[in-house]
Amino acid sequence: MSKRDFYEILGVTKSASDDEIKKAYRKLAIKYHPDKNPDDKAAEEKFKEAAEAYEVLSSPEKRQRYNQYGHAGVGGASGGGGGHYGGGMNMDDIFSQFGDIFGGGGFGGGRSSGGGRRVMRGSNLRVKVKLNLQEIAKGVEKKLKVNKFVSCGTCKGSGAKNGQYDTCKLCGGSGVQVRTQQTFLGAMQTQTTCSGCNGEGKTVKDKCNTCHGDGIVRAEEVISINIPAGVAEGMQLSVGGKGNAAPRGGINGDLLVLIEEEEHPELKRDGSNLFYDSYVNFADAALGTSIEIPTVDAKVKIKIEPGTQSGKVLRLKGKGLPDVNSYGTGDLLVNINVWTPQALSAEEKKALETLRASKNFAPNPNRKEKGFFDRMKEYFE
Ligand SMILES: [Zn+2]
Ligand SMILES: [Zn+2]
Repeated sequence: MSKRDFYEILGVTKSASDDEIKKAYRKLAIKYHPDKNPDDKAAEEKFKEAAEAYEVLSSPEKRQRYNQYGHAGVGGASGGGGGHYGGGMNMDDIFSQFGDIFGGGGFGGGRSSGGGRRVMRGSNLRVKVKLNLQEIAKGVEKKLKVNKFVSCGTCKGSGAKNGQYDTCKLCGGSGVQVRTQQTFLGAMQTQTTCSGCNGEGKTVKDKCNTCHGDGIVRAEEVISINIPAGVAEGMQLSVGGKGNAAPRGGINGDLLVLIEEEEHPELKRDGSNLFYDSYVNFADAALGTSIEIPTVDAKVKIKIEPGTQSGKVLRLKGKGLPDVNSYGTGDLLVNINVWTPQALSAEEKKALETLRASKNFAPNPNRKEKGFFDRMKEYFE
């Protein structure tokens, strides 16, 4: 849909005076005002269309550009709105820009915004918590000492000496200020958040000496939080209502706990699985042995079968970490590396020389062990 001509929309001629344009717009705005046409989409579109036309034609500079270049001269909205009139203007824009045009017509300036009175909310508090692998595996209760805003004890958070408030003189308790101006068009009204009470509708009678009327003071508080098992570096837990208190009895903010992970000296982590690199000597790998492996809890002994190849991965089921969403527990994967001696005495060299030629020492081309690629595939599947 192409855009209608702005003069046509307002029903004025190209030579119309500023006053004529204003009057024409006011007439249309009242006719299609959403308070008068509730849930009427067509009226809402007309209302927006008129506002857009007025926005351009009420500005001498924009009007001149429009006269010269048409819709293209006043913002790139021409035809690009997907058939949607109004370009970039929404209802809130219209009310905040032209709200004063509706005065005296029986409507409020803007749209009523749910009673107007505002409830304060405290800000969120951010803390970091460093956990070791044991704490992550089991879950842990942490006591955190935080410096934050708490409700003032003297006035019980009211900010007032005797807990007494006055109704705000400026707004009469509504939390909004309505300004009425007399103009040649009649009374015009604008509505803003009351500057006397910040929208709260009330003011403190006698300010509390401790908090100077804010109802909050800084204090250290020990907060105990339960961290579930399986959390990971970078996760954020939110503890509702444990953040900063709000001025004069509002709603508390939240406590946001950022998890940091202490690196384990031996065990590496990937999700809920753990990894350990184990080195066995060449003779142990050939003859078999048992070795000690660290786990989250304690060391455990595992058996190395005779003829174990370097790169064999032993999976210890359930010895990993619990999933934070309780989808079971991961495994501990032990990678067996066979250690090749790097310094040998003359006798050791001699002993190995006699073995070197043995056909049992030659790598078996028909080996059954899984290669590196198959092991990786198995792990990621
Ligand atoms: Zn106080
Ligand atoms: Zn007020």
